[in-house]
Amino acid sequence: MRNYAEVTERLNRLDVPIELLGTAHTYPIHQIHLASSAGTPKHIFITGGMHGDEPAGVEAVLRFLARDNTALLKNFSFSVIPCINPYGYVHNTRETFDDIDINRAFETEDIAEVTIVKKALGQTQFSLTIDFHEDYDATGFYLYEGKRDEKYIGPQLATAAKAIGPIDPEAPGEDAPDLAEGVYKVATAWGTQGLAPYLLHFHSEHVIISETPTVWSLEQRAALHLTILDTALDIISERDV
Ligand SMILES: [Zn+2]
Repeated sequence: MRNYAEVTERLNRLDVPIELLGTAHTYPIHQIHLASSAGTPKHIFITGGMHGDEPAGVEAVLRFLARDNTALLKNFSFSVIPCINPYGYVHNTRETFDDIDINRAFETEDIAEVTIVKKALGQTQFSLTIDFHEDYDATGFYLYEGKRDEKYIGPQLATAAKAIGPIDPEAPGEDAPDLAEGVYKVATAWGTQGLAPYLLHFHSEHVIISETPTVWSLEQRAALHLTILDTALDIISERDV
């Protein structure tokens, strides 16, 4: 059993406004907005804990929120959901209390966690979404990218992330890499049952799914996620796309 109250306590200790989005199976799901008052920055959506047995995503989000993001807020605002599946986080299960893989359920209307996330999304359009995951079979990292204009940055992200650890040599699903070693496209064949393809279709011109190998230390996995995020933010602020 993992302690979700510790996640909430870590959030409460931060100097950030915390919004209670709703409650799923007795556990609160929170969202945090980070923004400076000036300008109309690009809006970034960051999510962790979709799969409860992948705690490094939650850890990466908490570390992101705990650090000083003042410089980033000149160019970006952030909406952040640290843990989409608290029941799974506590019980170390991929699925929810109802045995649902939330990441295959975004076209459904009766899953508490999905309803809460969809309500939080409203009509919001994001410049970039990043969803943090882990892979139990992998020995290195990899990532998926979807981008409506097809000007992909995944190869640059993978190059930067090699400073943290190796790319996974085994392709997920046995497909060849689409964009570069360790970089796969969010496929249209997936439909919109997963969060990232759902967002790409309805809410976000650009989505990234970061996957770390569970065999790495929590420290290394969280560092990998944040390197992918920070490199993406660097690139899109320079490109002005
Ligand atoms: Zn996952």
